[in-house]
Amino acid sequence: MSKQKPFLRILAALLAVCVFVALPGANVSASEQADSSLAFFIDYIVPIISQLQKILSAMGLSTNLSLPRVGISAGHGGNTGAYSGGVYEDVKTLAIALAVNKEFTSRGYETLMNRTDNSKCDKETKLALYQPWRPDILLEFHYNIGGGTAEGLEVWYDSGNAEGKRLAELLAPRLSAAAGLKNRGAKGDDYAPGGNFYVCSSFPIGILVECAFLDNPNDVKKLDSTASKEKFAKAVAEVAAEFWGG
Ligand SMILES: [Zn+2]
Repeated sequence: MSKQKPFLRILAALLAVCVFVALPGANVSASEQADSSLAFFIDYIVPIISQLQKILSAMGLSTNLSLPRVGISAGHGGNTGAYSGGVYEDVKTLAIALAVNKEFTSRGYETLMNRTDNSKCDKETKLALYQPWRPDILLEFHYNIGGGTAEGLEVWYDSGNAEGKRLAELLAPRLSAAAGLKNRGAKGDDYAPGGNFYVCSSFPIGILVECAFLDNPNDVKKLDSTASKEKFAKAVAEVAAEFWGG
């Protein structure tokens, strides 16, 4: 489901305990305590962190403790959603989500997928899963339906969320270019045909990507190969890193 790094959490907790235990007592002035705490941090904690980073690095493990959490949700599941050409969109959305998850985890992010098989995942299940986990961004993937001639990729965000808008506006041109799809743009969900998207408004930043039109075979084939999905996933992760200033 997700790539956790419990050892890094334990390490952070141990360091926090070390600092707390070693802090000078309350019988010194505030300035003396601050000076002493700083000296302790520089003399003891920094070398410990440095050594641990070297050890973890030698083990091939990331030491970045501050990467954001990314919720990666495959729309629908259990043979639901749009249906065209003998296939439900939930099969396609899962394949995209798995590729995106693989890309983010390879970069050391914490991720959480809503499903990794074709089991059904409804709104209540999703909110119960993601809201306690508190993702920094939640990315949900869908396929569109448009009468057979419509084409391209859309990125939806909560209309009242400026950061969501900023991320969506970064994603739309880059993802469509990566897949060779028409860029239909970033869209505030006040204009969504079926009303606002709960996945956009239920999280600090919720993004819904309509990857391509399921009933347009020319659109669908642009994301069908493993290589095209990997390219798409790479673009998602690169944009996210830029979004966070990385
Ligand atoms: Zn859908």
